[in-house]
Amino acid sequence: MIYDDFYIKSLIKTVEDWPKEGISFRDITPIFSDPKGLRMVADAYIHRYIDSDISHIACIDARGFLIAAIIAYELQKPLILIRKKGKLPGKTISQSYKLEYGEAELEIQEGSVKSGDQVLLFDDLIATGGTLFAAIKLLKSQGASIKEVAAIIDLPDLNGSQLLRESNVPVFSLCAYEGE
Ligand code: AMP
Repeated sequence: MIYDDFYIKSLIKTVEDWPKEGISFRDITPIFSDPKGLRMVADAYIHRYIDSDISHIACIDARGFLIAAIIAYELQKPLILIRKKGKLPGKTISQSYKLEYGEAELEIQEGSVKSGDQVLLFDDLIATGGTLFAAIKLLKSQGASIKEVAAIIDLPDLNGSQLLRESNVPVFSLCAYEGE
């Protein structure tokens, strides 16, 4: 299925002043209740990465899980979950970070990736990049390299994608909301 930016953007709903005043929340849940939209998004990533030499797919709690699980299944790659504090059992490594609204902490299970692994990292949206930088730190602390960061939405005004690229992390997003 050919990717149609206009169609995907028509599915994404903007909720003003949620979860805090001043935030324009970009809600991707309608993509998941629209079979055509979900297929379009999944196919776009599958076409991009089908011949890539990625060894693992990692994804960030919780909306990042939704797309990444489909891509890992289709590309037959191991899926690594990076979760919010206190959700993963066993030995974990933690990284705290700042959000567009508040502070949080991410964790990964020790030994889930290793030196030489080439990771494709998924999240739903790139805002300031704080979440992705924390996830990247966790993966790199285990010796892995980041092949690319993939998101559905980029908010370029918040500079996260630019900061990632300046740190030599390739970034791919399906659509962007600029100047809104
Ligand atoms: P950041 O760390 O600032 O790049 O924020 C990215 C994370 O926060 C993503 O996991 C998003 O789910 C969430 N997020 C931040 N800003 C928004 C927004 N305006 N709309 C929807 N989700 C957001």
